[in-house]
Amino acid sequence: MEKLKDLEQEMLKCVRCGKCRDTCRTLLETDEEGDLVPTWESRSSRGRVRMALGLVQEKIPSTPRLIQDFYNCLLCNRCVSTCPSGVDVPKIIEGVRGFIVGEDLAPPNVKALLQALDETRNIFEMDQDERLIWTEMEAEEIMEDKVLKEADLCFFVGCQASFKGSLAGIPEAIALILDSLNINFTVLGEEEWCCGNPYFLLGLENEKAKELVSHNIEKMQELKVKQILTTCPGCFRVWTKIYPKIWGQPLPFEIIHSTQFFSELIDKNHINIPKKLQQIVGYQDPCELGRHCGIYEEPRKILNHLAGSNFKELPLNRDDSNCCGGGGLAKAVAEKMTLEIARFKLHEFLDIGSNLLVTACPACYENLMRGLDQSEEKIEIKDVNQLLAELLDLS
Ligand code: SF4
Ligand code: SF4
Repeated sequence: MEKLKDLEQEMLKCVRCGKCRDTCRTLLETDEEGDLVPTWESRSSRGRVRMALGLVQEKIPSTPRLIQDFYNCLLCNRCVSTCPSGVDVPKIIEGVRGFIVGEDLAPPNVKALLQALDETRNIFEMDQDERLIWTEMEAEEIMEDKVLKEADLCFFVGCQASFKGSLAGIPEAIALILDSLNINFTVLGEEEWCCGNPYFLLGLENEKAKELVSHNIEKMQELKVKQILTTCPGCFRVWTKIYPKIWGQPLPFEIIHSTQFFSELIDKNHINIPKKLQQIVGYQDPCELGRHCGIYEEPRKILNHLAGSNFKELPLNRDDSNCCGGGGLAKAVAEKMTLEIARFKLHEFLDIGSNLLVTACPACYENLMRGLDQSEEKIEIKDVNQLLAELLDLS
């Protein structure tokens, strides 16, 4: 409770105007006519801030229902961009999540996820030596001499893209592009530990989390790395915003997202794709890349290069974009809700006439694909790196 008490002033900044409530995606659900209607206030940003204050002032108990509504937040930051009082709602929610874990009241799936992370250093409870499964297909030859080698550039693959077969095409595309440009790089392989994001999304900056941070930094130092390339916005956010804080000093490497890396190469004419895409392409702003880290223009630069005037913006884009539903570990407690949000997101693309949805985040890709599997809609979903590799005739 001590730690949560520190956030009380942040909670008191809320004047209950409800502006954030209007944009909090978890508040809405689809009714029988297919229209979006508000559900319980406790599923909104304002409701969560009020409940947090009630908890901290010991006016309300931590019931299972209340607990559920702190874990089904997407941590998308949309409320932060709408709040006129500058309330950091996600920080409050992470604080409550940490308090709930500390009281041993976390939902079973959250506990299981933490246990897996503590024991196996990834949330999938897989052996670390399976981190290189993605290298066993098209990029096999390229990756033969790339594991734990000294190099200026290290590709930090991330748990999702390393372990999930459905996402293997993403790191593969990055390896193929780098190789085609004769850029030397390395990967940590089984020495890559989870970046720690799940701990931070659960409000935990504990010894286990610090162990992951120190290990990953030390491995990079051993390989004399100067630049770390990520494709997962979660890894990118954590490496840029949380690692220096935990490490206690600026990191001795540059952290770069793949969209920054490749858009720079397009600028320098090292990547040039003259043939433009004929489909109408729309872009899904990943919350952790956009609202959390301010990277909006680089993915657009790539898409403008690939699609020219066929690249169309969603009406709600950049700071105002809606989450795909895949963020904040909400899936662990509210899978149905996250898929419903994904299906809603697909309609935003169909409404602008787009039949190709491009994202720059493995978690968005995964959640949107799962949403598509459950719908009748016809739309292609691609990761921006895969699209680039495809148009370079590499895959
Ligand atoms: S972070 Fe997103 S889902 Fe969570 S309260 Fe804010 S707007 Fe709602
Ligand atoms: S968090 Fe901000 S936007 Fe939301 S109700 Fe409170 S003051 Fe209004």
